Amino acid sequence: MTHIVVLGSTNMDLVAYVEKAPQRGETVTGREFRTIPGGKGANQAVAAARAGATVSMIGAVGNDAFGTRLRTGLEHSGVNTDHLRTVEGPSGTAHIVVDDEGGNSIVVIPGANGTVDHLVPGDEGLIASADALLLQLEIPMAAVLAGARTARAHGVRTVLTPAPARPLPPELLSGVDLLVPNEHEAAALTGVPDPFAAADALLAQVPEVVVTLGPAGCLYVTRGAEPLAVPAPRVTAVDSTGAGDTFVGALAVALAEERPVREALTWAAAAAALSVQREGASASMPYRSEIEARYT
Ligand code: ATP
Repeated sequence: MTHIVVLGSTNMDLVAYVEKAPQRGETVTGREFRTIPGGKGANQAVAAARAGATVSMIGAVGNDAFGTRLRTGLEHSGVNTDHLRTVEGPSGTAHIVVDDEGGNSIVVIPGANGTVDHLVPGDEGLIASADALLLQLEIPMAAVLAGARTARAHGVRTVLTPAPARPLPPELLSGVDLLVPNEHEAAALTGVPDPFAAADALLAQVPEVVVTLGPAGCLYVTRGAEPLAVPAPRVTAVDSTGAGDTFVGALAVALAEERPVREALTWAAAAAALSVQREGASASMPYRSEIEARYT
């Protein structure tokens, strides 16, 4: 089996469903409340584990009830949590208000994720043993940089999801093998609104780029080859939360299995299409057998 390491965030999403989101100073009565395990790091870890890899997560949860639930949730999905630290204080939380039109507003409190600003003994060996390292931007940049540097030193493929969008230090991009922004992140990183042109511009800094385009699929560019556009399967989406993380997790597994790029992208698109047809983020992520059935 391929081995994927994820260095990133683990959050509990606290979601209030309301008819209309409150304005400043206003109180409204909502319809429903749910606590849903999330965080881009944890989501990608679950996606990769369900897609068939051995997955280890480096990160931190707090010593609160959410921390316990986040850890056991990952373990139930088959993610190894030996390198997920438990630290003093609260776990990361995302406070989400979803209105009846599907619009949302979100406050993220990093909590324990904010303590992941360095690698600890053992992390380096774990990264060195991986086929790929998955990174996102919901933990301090110092750790993301340390992860990329370590992976590079050991010849491990690094896949970066540049979300939430923010300027990236050139040192980080020079350590990344594959960058996977969505179209908004690609535009924010380059100042170029057209995704093809943005992907091309990013090739000056990283050797491979995939820009995801929601229901329109994705495009892939690499130096010295024709770009590839891979459509998404046409499905009825009920909840696209976590589609991007499902896509990246599955893509990393397929690439680590040395599948050709077009096949890997089609496989990842099949995984993401399955996830948008079900509610939830990690809860909606498909298992390998389901991806295979959808893919063939
Ligand atoms: P999210 O933030 O919702 O996790 P994202 O903005 O990071 O997603 P998207 O570009 O919206 O990423 O979606 C990632 C991939 O998921 C797409 O490239 C596509 O393959 C798949 N996908 C997303 N939405 C749909 C949809 N409605 N139908 C089919 N596939 C979809």
